[in-house]
Amino acid sequence: MKVVKFGGSSLASGKQLEKVFQIVTADPERKVVVVSAPGKRYAEDTKVTDLLIECAELCLQNKNPKVQLDTVLGRYASIAEELRLSDAVIREIHDDLLTRMASDKSKPDRFIDLLKASGEDNNAKLVAAYFQSRGVEAHYVDPKEAGLLVSDEPGNAQALPESYERLFSLNERSGIQVFPGFFGYSLSGEVFTFSRSGSDITGSILANALKADLYENFTDVDAVYSVNPSIVQKPKEIKELTYREMRELSYAGFTVLHDEALVPAFRAGIPVNIKNTNNPSAPGTLIVNERDNTNGPVIGIASDKGFCSIYVSKYLMNREIGFGRKLLGVLEDYGFSYEHTPSGIDDVSVILRENQLDEKVMVEVIDRIKNELQADEVKVAHSLSLIMVVGEGMRRNVGTMARASKALANASVNIEMINQGSSEVSMMFGVKEVDEKRAVKALYEEFFVPVTV
Ligand code: ASP
Repeated sequence: MKVVKFGGSSLASGKQLEKVFQIVTADPERKVVVVSAPGKRYAEDTKVTDLLIECAELCLQNKNPKVQLDTVLGRYASIAEELRLSDAVIREIHDDLLTRMASDKSKPDRFIDLLKASGEDNNAKLVAAYFQSRGVEAHYVDPKEAGLLVSDEPGNAQALPESYERLFSLNERSGIQVFPGFFGYSLSGEVFTFSRSGSDITGSILANALKADLYENFTDVDAVYSVNPSIVQKPKEIKELTYREMRELSYAGFTVLHDEALVPAFRAGIPVNIKNTNNPSAPGTLIVNERDNTNGPVIGIASDKGFCSIYVSKYLMNREIGFGRKLLGVLEDYGFSYEHTPSGIDDVSVILRENQLDEKVMVEVIDRIKNELQADEVKVAHSLSLIMVVGEGMRRNVGTMARASKALANASVNIEMINQGSSEVSMMFGVKEVDEKRAVKALYEEFFVPVTV
């Protein structure tokens, strides 16, 4: 049995839904279909999810969200019209949106989640209706009734462990199950969404819970590329990579799959196949537990901007028990999460995502570190990019770090920071944001472009 997930661009128009129908019905093992909300039809288009967020925000400010509401309804209506579906589906979606908009607004985050989740919920109803109109047995699944329980964290929910057992019974149902992605219900019965692009997580949870043989994730590219195609033209496609490699790459900017989506599939040992709705015969990229390391040390290079580092030095730091705890304790007091902590004998840097802090808070944090930890020096560096060079093969290959740093030196990129992941699946370089693209190109050339003599 296969769980198949389709992203927003695969469901953006009637023409796309027809492709989805062909793909699903071409293989009788494709029993559970997870859908996103309608996404962009062209580059400047707006995703239904973004329209719904705007709509919710206007409702919260007591303003009229007519334009956004009409645009959302218009998106579903144009799909229904293209596919010659009856008006009943659109009427149902209209009533559902009005009910959601009239609901309790005393907790704004929860109200936003309720509206946001309607994008996938209503799309699942529409897709099920379309499959039925083509004479195929298909059913919309209500995640509440099916038992997808999540934590009560607005916009950042996580599946509760008991969900897995409950969802298993979906296996006994006949026909194709159309399951809306992106959200579940808390124990008290309220809607909470995963973080953005979270339908990937729903698919992975279902693959695990239903003990699927494969989780197919359909998107709009032929494969995962070894580097961001907007930085390097026509980069090499990755045929196969491990869960660990994909996790590292998606953490640092590979957006093909949500970085939290691999864990449920990984725990159950279910391979994930990234495929293209617009070119379904292409084999795509397979994410597995282990692979042959025949293609050199590096499988991919990812990069992401928007980081800063807090550098702290204190003579004899290595002998001071509890220094690290106290330092991270200050950050914890402000609710900051940190990403990496490269360290030396007398110094340590803490890397954070910059969007968590403002200047005023930063000054407070630095003062506290100076005073409470009696640090000799505390410095903050802004606008950093992290570059991850990823590959299981690194463990066995000597000199990968030397090759990478030489390539960066040749491209005149100053390395602000280096961290070799404990797992030895990745190396991280911190560079100035202005140097990011040049650095990525230089590394790609070093590891992927054959030397011509
Ligand atoms: N529609 C949601 C978003 O745009 C979730 C998803 O597509 O996976 O983030």
